[in-house]
Order: sequence, then structure tokens, then C-alpha cells
Amino acid sequence: MQENNYFAYVNGRTLPQTDASLTISDRGLKFGDGVYETIRVHNGQPYSWEKHMERLTISLNLLKINYSTEWLLSICTNLINKNNITHGSLRIMITRGIGGAGYLPANKNECGIVVEAMPLPKKPEKPVGLWLSSWRKIPAQCLPAAAKTMQGLSSTLARMEAEENGCFEAVLLSTDGHICEGSSSNVFWVKNGRLYTPSLASGILAGTTRDSIIELWPGGVSEGLFPLSDLENADEIFVTNVNWTALPVSRFMPCGKELGTNETCARINELLIKDMEQRNPKN
Ligand code: PLP
Repeated sequence: MQENNYFAYVNGRTLPQTDASLTISDRGLKFGDGVYETIRVHNGQPYSWEKHMERLTISLNLLKINYSTEWLLSICTNLINKNNITHGSLRIMITRGIGGAGYLPANKNECGIVVEAMPLPKKPEKPVGLWLSSWRKIPAQCLPAAAKTMQGLSSTLARMEAEENGCFEAVLLSTDGHICEGSSSNVFWVKNGRLYTPSLASGILAGTTRDSIIELWPGGVSEGLFPLSDLENADEIFVTNVNWTALPVSRFMPCGKELGTNETCARINELLIKDMEQRNPKN
């Protein structure tokens, strides 16, 4: 995301994003030592705040970063108001701060807290290509899967590869070959009228949009460990995150499967928007 003219929050100060910075000694920059959340703003309020705080707390605990989230809602609300955002996006980043001997953190670090406000990214107008990544999802034995860490390199490489192959998003398999998730999304598919998505046991991030879809979809969602062939033989595929809601896939590459329908995806988008309107009504 390019710099915009919004205000950002950094360690207790609200200032224009172009003036907002963390020190080069911050462990977030040095080691990717931090966690983050991307939150959708709908009608001037954060959507699914509780789900995001639950995931953020899990991330902080798994990384043993000592930060209390109690002030975050008022920080985010102030930033939404300051930027006059009706629909947009917030990115909360919490680093372990400064200090330590190399990788070993100091006993007491003061966290680096940054909240960035952004317009919603432009959603592709047409269904997109999905690329089967040659990269595999980092297994839970290497980094805790439930933590939304600042380590975005594996997703960056996967997304670059997708683009090099004419696709918008990449889907990664686990190291044991099960379908996992997109570079920055969860994946769903339809087969014979039934909706499927990988279970958390596959090592995916527990997406908040995925969670809402499981709650809202009347037909129920089958979760499990699924082989690649299930995606190759799907009738419909879509990927989900807070910014895209549900984004339909037109073809799955490199197997070349063309997907003729995005009917379920369209219905899910309607359900998600309805839920946002109900939870965050217009003032
Ligand atoms: N999986 C990964 C790896 C992600 O990075 C994201 C979002 O950034 C998601 C899934 C979707 O999560 P959410 O629905 O909370 O945006």
C-alpha cells in the first residue's frame, strides 16, 4: 500500500502518515518480530472487532509479546474519526519493540504500536485467476499457525509467483500436500452444491471472514484435510479476507480449470454485507 494522506497512530501519537515512523532499532523491522491485524471499517466502525481481538490476543500470547489490548478500541475509534472514514481498513501492528542481544529479546521491551488507516483496496471487478503456488505453507512446527505474524515473506513470494503467471492470488498447500490457504486469504470451493474449506488443522490462519462465512452460510460448511484434486475438480472456487470479502475465481492454474459459475460466492457476499449492515448500522 502506498503512503496516503491519512493520519496514523504511532506509540501514543496521531500524526500524518508521511511523518509517522518507528526507529530502525525496532525488532519488527529487524526480525519481523511482531503481530498484526487488518480490520474492515464499515459505516465508521470496525467490523468483527471481537473476532480480531481474540485472534490478536492469541497471536500476542503465542509470540510471548506482553501487550494489553484494552486501549486499542479507543485508539482505532479516534483514528477512524480523525480520518473521517466511513468504509475503509485499519492495520494494527504490534512489535516487540527495541532491545535484546541479537535474536534474544530483553526482559522488558516496550512494544511498538502502529495503527495505519487506509481506504479499502480496489476489489477486482471480474473473477480472478488463482495460481497453485510452488511454495508450501510454513508448517506449524516452524511458526505458530494461529498467530498472524509480521513474517509476510512466504506470502510475498507466493503472490509474486502468481502475478508472474497472470494470476491475482496464489493458493498454498501444506508440506504434506493438503489444500491450505491463499497468500492473504482463505479458500472455499463448491462441489455438487456443498461448500468446503480446509480445517484449522491444515495449518491455516483462522480468517475472520472464513469464520463469519461458517456462521452465516445456511447449508453448513464442510471442514477437513483435503487433497489438491478436490480443488482441481471443484465447480466453483473463491477466496476470502476482510478487504475482498469473497472474491470469485475464474480459473485455477496451472491445471487450467475454467470455473463457469460464481453463484455461491455472490450469495456469500450478500450475506457478509448484510451482516456488516446489521452489526454496524448507519448512524
Ligand atoms: N490467511 C492468510 C495467510 C491471511 O494473511 C489472511 C488475511 O490477511 C487471511 C487468511 C484472511 O483473514 P481475514 O479474513 O481475517 O482477513
